[in-house]
Amino acid sequence: MKPALNIEYKRNRQSRSIRISHRGQSNFLVTYPYYVSRKKAEAFVNQKWPWMERIVDTIEPGLTLRSYLHQNPNIYPWHVGQKSLDLFEIEAPGLIDELKGLARESLPFRIKALSKEKEIEITQVQIRDQRTRWGSCSSSGTLSLNWRLILMPFALQNHILLHELAHKVELNHSDAFWGLLSNWDPDCQENRKAIRTIGKTLIHLTLE
Ligand SMILES: [Zn+2]
Repeated sequence: MKPALNIEYKRNRQSRSIRISHRGQSNFLVTYPYYVSRKKAEAFVNQKWPWMERIVDTIEPGLTLRSYLHQNPNIYPWHVGQKSLDLFEIEAPGLIDELKGLARESLPFRIKALSKEKEIEITQVQIRDQRTRWGSCSSSGTLSLNWRLILMPFALQNHILLHELAHKVELNHSDAFWGLLSNWDPDCQENRKAIRTIGKTLIHLTLE
């Protein structure tokens, strides 16, 4: 059975075009300009109906990046929350560039803040496009982070940033390494499990 969609219509003085934004679960908000009729706004929504149903369908292999973002509007609240409409307007290849840009803006900043807190010196942070790993730490001291990290819930992102920082103290995955990481992240085991699960979804996201 197809999910029922809850749609709220709002005329907006600032609006210049009809826009649909996903408000979590099966809820959508449609904003439209004063000079557009409600009937026209509804016709626009009817046209977008299959796309909206796709968003509401639960996460499954083959999920598109765009649907994932709409299904998880709170994952990256300080950026994607504000930019959700822009992201929705962006064509597929541009969407990845936009997300990589957000990753470059936020991840180095956040790992530097954590490194200060843990009193660990880091020199260089790179944002990379890796398929198989979330982060790595080279012997020269450069930290590499996968831009897809920003698609994870905040606590999981933090866990991975702490994991890479812990490698500045313990190079290998020794008992000492896991001891240090558990000390920094009390939910270490649960977070590792959650990352394995969400990782499968993230790696399989398709562009469109
Ligand atoms: Zn590691």
